[in-house]
Amino acid sequence: MIITKKKDFSKILEYLNGREKIYLFGCNSCAEQCETGGEREVKAMADLLEKQGKKVIGFSVPDETCYSMLIKKHFREDKDVLEKVDAILVLACGAGVKAVADAAGDGMAVFPALDSLYLANVTRYGHFFEGCSLCGDCVLAETGGICPHTQCPKSLLNGPCGGMVNAKCEVNLENECAWIMIYRRLKAQERLDVLKRIAPPKDHSNGVKPRTVIVESRNKKQS
Ligand code: SF4
Ligand code: SF4
Repeated sequence: MIITKKKDFSKILEYLNGREKIYLFGCNSCAEQCETGGEREVKAMADLLEKQGKKVIGFSVPDETCYSMLIKKHFREDKDVLEKVDAILVLACGAGVKAVADAAGDGMAVFPALDSLYLANVTRYGHFFEGCSLCGDCVLAETGGICPHTQCPKSLLNGPCGGMVNAKCEVNLENECAWIMIYRRLKAQERLDVLKRIAPPKDHSNGVKPRTVIVESRNKKQS
């Protein structure tokens, strides 16, 4: 799940300066769970904009705003309204903003209302934890499912750094040292021998952006 936070409203007003008729997109998936872009937040944004003299002439909260085909379909269906707007404001992650901007076409100004922060585990309702940075070269097999690239602030692949205090991370003493956690888990699995190996440098070529994936079997089914 992608974690987002709301931008300052003053920043949004800057984006929309000189533009009167606004259309809003939310997202009923990640942004809804973060309480940054569900229907409630979209309606609240519409109220705020109206109070500033803007005209919100429509809104939509798609199931997944990052799903480009879904957004293109929405643009076809709500074409009459969307053609009349001066700008579109998107309460979704960056992928959602991109989907809307691509569907809107080059001539339409599309602005983000949120900042996208990270990929998260949902630890319980409304509680999120960053456990993977999507590096493209996963080492979790050697680290007991705990990501040193993400949970160690120094991203050490051969830890610990030695700066921990009572097993807490020296960078943030509220957090356990990731490498202490890795050690404990591998010990419980009787796999401490894994730690005797020196991990090679991460292969960053797998993380060169932008990345694309084509699932061949799905394409075969369609053709
Ligand atoms: S090693 Fe890379 S892919 Fe694996 S969990 Fe960490 S960031 Fe994610
Ligand atoms: S104390 Fe542990 S988690 Fe913190 S920077 Fe050092 S190795 Fe990484």
